[in-house]
Amino acid sequence: MKRFKALSLLLAVVLILSVSACTLKGPDKKLVVATNAQFPPFEYVTEAGQGVIDKYDGIDILIVQEIAKDHGFKIEIADMEFNSIIASVTTGKADIGVAGMTDTADRRENVDFSIPYWVAVQTIIVPETNTDITSAESLKGKKVGVVTGYTGDSALSDMGDINLLRFNKGIDAVMELTNGKLDAVVIDSPTANRFIEKFDGLKAVYDDTVFETEQYAIAVQKGNQELLDKINSTIERLIANKDIERFAEEIDARFQS
Ligand code: GLN
Repeated sequence: MKRFKALSLLLAVVLILSVSACTLKGPDKKLVVATNAQFPPFEYVTEAGQGVIDKYDGIDILIVQEIAKDHGFKIEIADMEFNSIIASVTTGKADIGVAGMTDTADRRENVDFSIPYWVAVQTIIVPETNTDITSAESLKGKKVGVVTGYTGDSALSDMGDINLLRFNKGIDAVMELTNGKLDAVVIDSPTANRFIEKFDGLKAVYDDTVFETEQYAIAVQKGNQELLDKINSTIERLIANKDIERFAEEIDARFQS
């Protein structure tokens, strides 16, 4: 009888262990991904059913798909304002923030960042005919559009003397520029290039004496090392195999067509 009891106890333990292992490894672990799908080529909304995940497409979405495949996550995209992403990760409403987000010291006070996966720089977009905006300094006294809370917003806010107009989406700022209501728009290089390709009559101006390069990384809740390790292992694999460049080409082809 004693032996029987011991055996059933053992069986129960084995059962519990295997059930919990299943939940941990099962395909249904949900990863909520906070993003702002207004930032081509990294994330944008496409026709329903045409995106990589639901209607969402872009380099970041392809990276998220790889994280899901590697670690058995089911992805839920939470599309929100860029300025809400960090808070949603800190409070645990989202598990990760993936939004072409620059790893900055300020943001590091609230979240941890993965290893970087992309390098960008702030770019000044001006009408092709413009000749007087040739540097960041020459933006002083001009009407310049930025997106609220982006690194471009903080860089120009720090410079002062610029008539800054803040928008919720990069595309809205660029529309105002093409309508002649702004003198320039400052935004990350990959997105600036997409807008310049998409709209006639715009060009890019760079100023590496003022704008430092920025590294994009994925944000996780502070101290969630387990999740961070998983994300880093996927990013390392993608970088080693040059997959991220391939994703960029793939999205380029899709975004133009
Ligand atoms: N890289 C910029 C930032 O982190 C812009 C990001 C974005 O627009 N999604 O602020």
